[in-house]
Amino acid sequence: MTVRQAVCLVGGRGTRLGSLTQTTPKPLLPVGGRPFLDYLIGEASRFGLERLSLLAGHNAGEVVRNYHGKAVGGLSIEVIVEAAPAGTAGALANAAHALDPVFFLFNGDSFFGFNWLSMVPALDREDWTMHLALARGVQGGRYGRVETRGDRISSFLPKAESDLPINAGIYLVRRRILDRIHSVPCSLENDILPRLASEGALLGFAAEGTFIDIGIPEDFARGQEAMPAFTRRPAAFLDRDGVINHDDNYVHRPEQIRWIDGAKDAIRWLNDAGFYVFVITNQAGVAHGHYGEEQVRTLHAWMQRELQGAGAHVDRFEYCPYHPEGAVERYRRVSDLRKPGPGMILKVRDEWPIDMDDSFMIGDRDIDMQAAAAAGIAGHQFPGGNLLDFVRTRVSATRRNPASR
Ligand SMILES: [Mg+2]
Repeated sequence: MTVRQAVCLVGGRGTRLGSLTQTTPKPLLPVGGRPFLDYLIGEASRFGLERLSLLAGHNAGEVVRNYHGKAVGGLSIEVIVEAAPAGTAGALANAAHALDPVFFLFNGDSFFGFNWLSMVPALDREDWTMHLALARGVQGGRYGRVETRGDRISSFLPKAESDLPINAGIYLVRRRILDRIHSVPCSLENDILPRLASEGALLGFAAEGTFIDIGIPEDFARGQEAMPAFTRRPAAFLDRDGVINHDDNYVHRPEQIRWIDGAKDAIRWLNDAGFYVFVITNQAGVAHGHYGEEQVRTLHAWMQRELQGAGAHVDRFEYCPYHPEGAVERYRRVSDLRKPGPGMILKVRDEWPIDMDDSFMIGDRDIDMQAAAAAGIAGHQFPGGNLLDFVRTRVSATRRNPASR
């Protein structure tokens, strides 16, 4: 099963922030020069989700104006407005018509930087209704704490300073949660989660990472620098054919893909280590008329779904359809995008907050190394074999985990 949808709880007035939220919903408050919600949308987009439903209550007009019908990368955004305050679970019931069989749910006023897709492999099991992201190492007495037994949540404890993790406000949810919401208003945290925990129907995935709750004034202040810092990270630029899948000549359909050993795990490893992962691939087959750009994009969307089952994702697929001797006139050109030119790497660099000093390229050919050198980043030539083993040995020296900064 693939997860394609994310659902964000936008509604709710932030009483603790007082006058700041009288006119603006909390998730739209500026943090580091952008609405806080934009960081969350960025996460949903780069994890490869396709559809985001914003559940808006208070002052929905501004949310609709800013986001409805927009797209960020491959993520399209819709706004669903609730008529009356229904609580966090009630908001889901109100949006029942729009919910997939399984979806990510997250709070619009908090942020937890971790690999969301870590929770996806658990979809192989039927014995849970909600899977919670738990943040470890969060200090202070403002948060309720979560007790686990194995990977199952056993109970929710009152607010206290503790070594136990907290509920990070990001969930993987099965649609059957709707069967538990019998009347509105209804609160997920107070009415639904404790009951599901007592039934053993909640899984928890604990991780360390940046955690910001902008409903708390100190966190709101801290987020002004912490959020832009979180998004700035080194990148792994990966060639596709010969690195992720075998180079079988003009591969353009899913059934032609033979994954390189360890490729999915290598990408997951890079995700977890805090690197952006970009695929940088020459696709001269388009210029030669063997297939169209639409097929390239469809194949990449398929690869993204395959990666998801391994808890991995590619932040963006970048391809070059041009070739100087192409048979198709509109793709026949010399282009700096085509490797060995650095154009694709530089394009991604200009559009993402990348720390280039610790970034690198992995490719199987000289043109990949030349593109890396021209872009001013390290190049690692992959000789074949297991990609995870290769990545581990080559990258460990430069590995930086934003979570540990
Ligand atoms: Mg190659």
